[in-house]
Amino acid sequence: MSAPIISLKSLSSTTSAGQLLTIAKSGGCASSSCGSSSTPTDTDSAIWEKIKDHPCFSEEAHHYFARMHVAVAPACNIQCNYCNRKYDCANESRPGVVSEKLAPDQALRKVIAVANEVPQLSVLGIAGPGDACYDWNKTRATFERVAREIPDIKLCISTNGLALPEHVDELAEMNISHVTITINMVDPAVGEKIYPWVFYGHRRYTGIDAAKILHEQQMLGLEMLSERGILTKINSVMIPGVNDQHLIEVNKWVNERGAFLHNVMPLISEPAHGTRFGLTGQRGPNPLELKALQDRLEGGAKLMRHCRQCRADAVGLLGTDRGQEFTLDQIPLELGYDGSKRYAYREVVARIRDDHIAAKDQAITTLASVSTRGSLQVAVATKGGGRINEHFGHAKEFQVYEASQTGIKFVGHRKVEAYCHGGWGEDAALSGIIAALAGIDIVLCAKVGDCPKKQLMEAGIRATDAFGYDYIEAAISALYITEYGSDSSELTA
Ligand code: SF4
Ligand code: SF4
Repeated sequence: MSAPIISLKSLSSTTSAGQLLTIAKSGGCASSSCGSSSTPTDTDSAIWEKIKDHPCFSEEAHHYFARMHVAVAPACNIQCNYCNRKYDCANESRPGVVSEKLAPDQALRKVIAVANEVPQLSVLGIAGPGDACYDWNKTRATFERVAREIPDIKLCISTNGLALPEHVDELAEMNISHVTITINMVDPAVGEKIYPWVFYGHRRYTGIDAAKILHEQQMLGLEMLSERGILTKINSVMIPGVNDQHLIEVNKWVNERGAFLHNVMPLISEPAHGTRFGLTGQRGPNPLELKALQDRLEGGAKLMRHCRQCRADAVGLLGTDRGQEFTLDQIPLELGYDGSKRYAYREVVARIRDDHIAAKDQAITTLASVSTRGSLQVAVATKGGGRINEHFGHAKEFQVYEASQTGIKFVGHRKVEAYCHGGWGEDAALSGIIAALAGIDIVLCAKVGDCPKKQLMEAGIRATDAFGYDYIEAAISALYITEYGSDSSELTA
């Protein structure tokens, strides 16, 4: 609670490079650690180097770094029953919103425009609609152009895996360090319920043959990536009654083949999206079903729980999307790259991150000292930096943490409609927020008014701004001690 505060407000995209540098220097940067961050105690240092700036591969990094997607590879070689390519790729996006499809030169212009204005940008991904490996020439042309202009940006692809094995060597040569494969089954009998056809070796296959080919290619591609030290994340779409229980087997198979992360995502299947699942009434899981499955998977391949199922043209920190600020019509035809804001931001982050990691370690030590067993579900309003720095009324999502004696775990997020509109609270929005926060014990935010606080309390959810701008873990451990510590006293919110 007493840690020095460098508000992430001051690191917004409108901040000038000079201001960022002033912030970096103002705290008296320790000379030997400036420009580097400590490795968290539970992470191997070589792995940490690869993931520390990647908002999807590191939950910790997602508090600081942003990704952008460019939709350059629209052709696809399979059909998933949860996808309608008139809309965005359901692997990596919310269906229903059409992306701006780009040629490689247009994508380069857009990446430069974003890199100049969004200091948090660290990753460029190609994540649908379509398949980055099947539409390979466009993927490669885009990455070659961007790597020439912005060599320090991380390049990332998402693929269904069918054409992956034939491109693994090129991916390694191009220094593509992070790959996502969507794997929904390891048993073709399950696969044929998800994939009506695949196009492979100039032929179209259907039924179990299609699923068998896809499965073999996915496993081969994963093994090849692991052999080359490329970090691989597995996305699995959880489809109740089709593959939900089967994902336990998927987790085991991908773990054995070296997957770094397993990201189980809920099926999105609105009938309006026109997908086969949407039109046939296949439902997606509710948040509690998703969490129950994720909990069962603990102990196998490490789980990603902070995925936001972003649009295929998303820009910004996870949980926010600034894509509409960077449509092609707003970007000058001639634009040079200016990395000054990104470099200055990195200096700031390297320093505050050391501070954050130390605060987290302290919080975990504190929890371990409590003798009473118990758990707390905590929802946090944050806009980045690992701090409780968003007002209750402005939050469009709450990050959910589970605290127990064994530590503090990020377990997901709950999307909500913001309560405050133009300075006034909306009762209808508050009802939705209360429903979305089912099962939560305490809400932490930078500011909360008496009215929403009272209504939350009536629903059995406490809310407090007493820890405003503190590190999330430090605040949660202090709450936990109040609830379960030996000198336990009532929480005063
Ligand atoms: S791989 Fe992506 S683009 Fe292709 S059908 Fe599946 S969800 Fe759609
Ligand atoms: S969809 Fe998930 S994995 Fe992909 S960029 Fe968004 S948060 Fe990262």
